[in-house]
Amino acid sequence: MAEYIFAPSPVTAVPIAGSTASFPVRRVFCVGRNYADHAREMGANPDREPPFFFTKPADAVVPAAGTLAYPMLTEDLHHEIEMVIAIGKEGSRIDPKNALDYVLGYSVGVDLTRRDLQAIAKKMSRPWDWAKGFDESAPVTPIHLAEKIGHPGTGKIWLSVNGETKQTGDLADMIWPVADIISHVSHAVVIKPGDLIFSGTPAGVGALKRGDKVTGGVEGVAEFQFEIGKA
Ligand code: MN
Repeated sequence: MAEYIFAPSPVTAVPIAGSTASFPVRRVFCVGRNYADHAREMGANPDREPPFFFTKPADAVVPAAGTLAYPMLTEDLHHEIEMVIAIGKEGSRIDPKNALDYVLGYSVGVDLTRRDLQAIAKKMSRPWDWAKGFDESAPVTPIHLAEKIGHPGTGKIWLSVNGETKQTGDLADMIWPVADIISHVSHAVVIKPGDLIFSGTPAGVGALKRGDKVTGGVEGVAEFQFEIGKA
């Protein structure tokens, strides 16, 4: 056994619904602009762009429950409700027609974004990391196994703040559906069990303030509720 100078950080893990086992997180990939109406609201042309990706650290994943601290270094924290794909099998250069075989299950998450930092990054042609990959930036629900819920290709995706609906869409409106997303990621890196892929958000993204109550869900997958800390 390797001798470390200090104990390694604990493995970030997401509960599996209806099981005592949990899903150890390896990497977190996120698709940018995967719903046409959101691409338009961000000033992009949804018809001409192939999918692009960014990442978050594995330990940015936290339960979408309880209270999340308002993050440092921003005054414009945005919500992006997304279905999250949990990968259960290693592969690369995967054909879309086989891609769903690599899915263990699905979760619902929020791609929390420091929009003010992202705006600066875009303007200055800098990386998005500081806007996307901060502490607790990836709250997710427990994972629901595909063997139980199937592979949802349609169904409502929604998010409310303090009881007011902010985002609504349908999984059917994804520009790149789940199988295509997996195929694209796997043509860039080897995907492995433990990878999570945030699949993009519908229109209606907006700011979260300290003390806000956030609820959301994806029909046929899961729902959640959490609060933003007052401090
Ligand atoms: Mn997103």
